[in-house]
Amino acid sequence: MEQLEQAIQEIRQALPGMTLLEHEALASHSSFRIGGPVRALAIPSDVTSVAKICRIMKDHELAPFILGNGTNLLFPDEGLEELLIISTEKLQKLFLLPDGSVYAEAGVSLSKLASFAQQNGLKGLEFASGIPGTVGGGCFINAGAYGGELKDAIESVVCLYLPDQAMYELTKDECAFGYRRSYFSTHPGCVILSAVFRLEPGDKDEIAGKMRELNEKRRAKQPLDLPSAGSAFKRPEGNFAGALIEQCGLKGYSVGGAQVSEKHAGFVVNTGGATSHDVYDLMMHVRNTVYKETGVFLEPEIIILAPDYKLEDHGPKIPRNRVSVNDPNEMEEKGRVKREE
Ligand SMILES: Cc1cc2nc3c(=O)[nH]c(=O)nc-3n(C[C@H](O)[C@H](O)[C@H](O)COP(=O)(O)OP(=O)(O)OC[C@H]3O[C@@H](n4cnc5c(N)ncnc54)[C@H](O)[C@@H]3O)c2cc1C
Repeated sequence: MEQLEQAIQEIRQALPGMTLLEHEALASHSSFRIGGPVRALAIPSDVTSVAKICRIMKDHELAPFILGNGTNLLFPDEGLEELLIISTEKLQKLFLLPDGSVYAEAGVSLSKLASFAQQNGLKGLEFASGIPGTVGGGCFINAGAYGGELKDAIESVVCLYLPDQAMYELTKDECAFGYRRSYFSTHPGCVILSAVFRLEPGDKDEIAGKMRELNEKRRAKQPLDLPSAGSAFKRPEGNFAGALIEQCGLKGYSVGGAQVSEKHAGFVVNTGGATSHDVYDLMMHVRNTVYKETGVFLEPEIIILAPDYKLEDHGPKIPRNRVSVNDPNEMEEKGRVKREE
């Protein structure tokens, strides 16, 4: 704690103009509308400031947590008073590169990216226009929908690696994308700063039409009128989480303010006043029931940030509040050092 307090003080001094919120309610930064206060939430306006914050944190043997749009996260009601979060919301550079590929910083929303591609007559990101996350969060989990995944369009990703504080450019292959995972989700310690997308030329009206069609499908099937974090569980091989949950009679099942959506059983929604414990208990019940009745083990897709909750043992890792234990040389072997900060 003392280390964190010192780091916050140094960050304030190093970046006096930056927004640095203290004890900020995480519910306002989560699509679930759930979460107590975080000790500090930094909102840097450029990549250099992100690197400065990370350097100060590293000097104190701490690692920040990176927040995109908060659309795939469950924050604890108790808050995260031992954490500093860096929000990417101001990393908004988005432009065409001379070779026709698209450069986007981590905080660009996937809908803005998809619209930009459409306006420039580039196809391949129509599926992403309705996903409410950012480029950073999307690369982290290899977001996808309707048969498309970000990996299909990504050429490379630039990240800051916390253990050695250097920037690396990873090719698509080096990003090791898989179904709802990537090198970044399996190796904590990378801050995704930007990505380059390689797209195909296409007809602007056709691209817009496809985006409209997919978004209409989304509106018809998903409970977009209630706070949620998207699909609660990953798709088990050869099956659908929503179908299994419905088959077990759990559609509409609720714990406190958390409910298995009546519109789409794959979603857990906040019907009003849900706590993180409600969501967690509901997800546990769903997982146990589905396992008992069908033998299929559902892995959470939502990233749960609560050290004392156990669900993540079988799902995504919780962030460490210390510098990653990865071998710092691992990155150097994998990618190309761009710049030492
Ligand atoms: C209504 C709704 C519909 C959805 N539909 C879909 C869908 O169709 N397909 C789909 O795949 N997902 C869907 N989602 C889930 C979510 O939008 C995606 O997973 C998205 O990629 C999350 O992005 P984010 O910016 O919100 O990430 P966050 O929720 O902010 O973060 C998620 C994880 O990514 C990490 N992260 C974020 N940015 C960075 C960065 N710059 N560097 C390193 N790590 C980072 C965070 O640390 C965290 O671990 C949906 C969610 C909702 C609420």
